[in-house]
Amino acid sequence: MPSVADPLTALLWRNRFAELGDAFYTPVQAAPLRDVHWVCRSDSVASSLGLPENWWRSPMALQALAGNEVLPGSQPLASVYSGHQFGVWAGQLGDGRALWLGEIDTPSGPQEWQLKGAGLTPYSRMGDGRAVLRSSIREFLCSEAMHGLGIPTTRALAIVASPDKVLREELETAAVVTRVAPSFLRFGHFEHFAALGRQAELKQLADFAIRHYFGDLLNITDGPERYLALLEQVVLRTASLLAHWQSVGFCHGVMNTDNMSLLGLTIDYGPFQFLDGFDPAHICNHSDHQGRYAFARQPQVAFWNLYCLGQALLPLTQDQDASVDVLDLFKTAYPLQLDKRMAAKLGLNEVQTGDHELVDAVFKLLTPERTDFTIFWRRLSHAVAAYASSQDTQAFQPVADMFMQAEAWASWLANYLQRLAPQDLTLAAQTMLATNPKFVLRNHLGEQAIRQAKMGDFSGVSTLLTLLSSPFDEHPGFETYAAFPPDWASSIAISCSS
Ligand code: AMP
Ligand code: MG
Repeated sequence: MPSVADPLTALLWRNRFAELGDAFYTPVQAAPLRDVHWVCRSDSVASSLGLPENWWRSPMALQALAGNEVLPGSQPLASVYSGHQFGVWAGQLGDGRALWLGEIDTPSGPQEWQLKGAGLTPYSRMGDGRAVLRSSIREFLCSEAMHGLGIPTTRALAIVASPDKVLREELETAAVVTRVAPSFLRFGHFEHFAALGRQAELKQLADFAIRHYFGDLLNITDGPERYLALLEQVVLRTASLLAHWQSVGFCHGVMNTDNMSLLGLTIDYGPFQFLDGFDPAHICNHSDHQGRYAFARQPQVAFWNLYCLGQALLPLTQDQDASVDVLDLFKTAYPLQLDKRMAAKLGLNEVQTGDHELVDAVFKLLTPERTDFTIFWRRLSHAVAAYASSQDTQAFQPVADMFMQAEAWASWLANYLQRLAPQDLTLAAQTMLATNPKFVLRNHLGEQAIRQAKMGDFSGVSTLLTLLSSPFDEHPGFETYAAFPPDWASSIAISCSS
């Protein structure tokens, strides 16, 4: 029996999603895993959930997060959704390996919990309901890295693992990530009921989302206008998310509509990658043969995905022209958000005409030599800091060293310094150092931590968690984690297999 003092058993579970009715989900019990053990936990997520420091010490915590025991009051379920995968309607998908435990009230508002990799559900299709240790570490670290960067994301409380075997390209072992978000609703949840012509359920779901996550919209009269406003909110959040991604060189890899969050969170970490060398055409997903989800295409894909959501909501918005007008807001919102992000990366305190050219010129500099994206921006930030005190352009030498195109660089720098001149350079450098991270989850860093973890040593995961949770801090002594990637990094092939 769990002890009364166990902080996890004391949680008060609610499942508002379950109140929607059985068209939306199936109750599912997790499939047990043998000999489970902790791999890592995020103290920051635990504290944001209001859990005490020792929350994980009870045997119940470990067993519950492995799916071996049900937390009192939680009614696990798997939800049904559909979606477009790689631009093609894929029909019914659903939580094939994620169980919703329910939601709890926390200091940061209601938070839903899911166990990813907890076994088969009615939506598992050909899958086994499991997640492997490798992909679980990637999801755990990247969600916390994104949060550290200030990018909206689902978060990860912990990973537990088991020696139970899971077959992928090779035999691997199972793990379960506990992920947390205010809502796991996806565009695909709406597409599902729209495609089936089930308008009552579509309306029920949209009303549910408005009531719980977009409460301000309740001020708008019930009807098409309110649903158009919901669409608008999602368009704006998605535009902001994509600007964030592009500004840090994050490539999602599988931007199918079932992997798009209604709340504009980064969700479903699979073959994602932070760019090493800058390449707009970079494809991080080994299974993406056409390059549909190549880095520079992501904003267009987001727009395409929003159209799918707009289409799905049409029975509620009832006006195609008005929906298209709302969707078209993306075309102005995204560039505006990106301009703001890029201005901050350059230390500019406002966006002025002409800044666009300055930013375009950076990308033109970075592309031909595949200049390292993260290191370029970080060196530029430090260079501005040094220049602020010395007024000597020698401060920019570490950045100049990154380019063969000496003339192109010199001419860009001259334009940049002219643009910066009227500003307080010390403040500009501060903005830049708080905007351009020193540490991102490069593929090879994740890979090294995964190799160690497979041998039973989880210290590499912990170290990365620490660095990536505060990626703008210098973390003296950890320079190798901020260095250029080794040659073998470019040969890491990450597919959808997880
Ligand atoms: P993804 O593209 O990884 O987000 O997954 C697409 C669909 O496949 C979703 O419905 C997932 O739940 C499902 N899925 C992915 N991997 C598995 C697995 N190992 N077992 C069951 N379902 C899976
Ligand atoms: Mg998915």
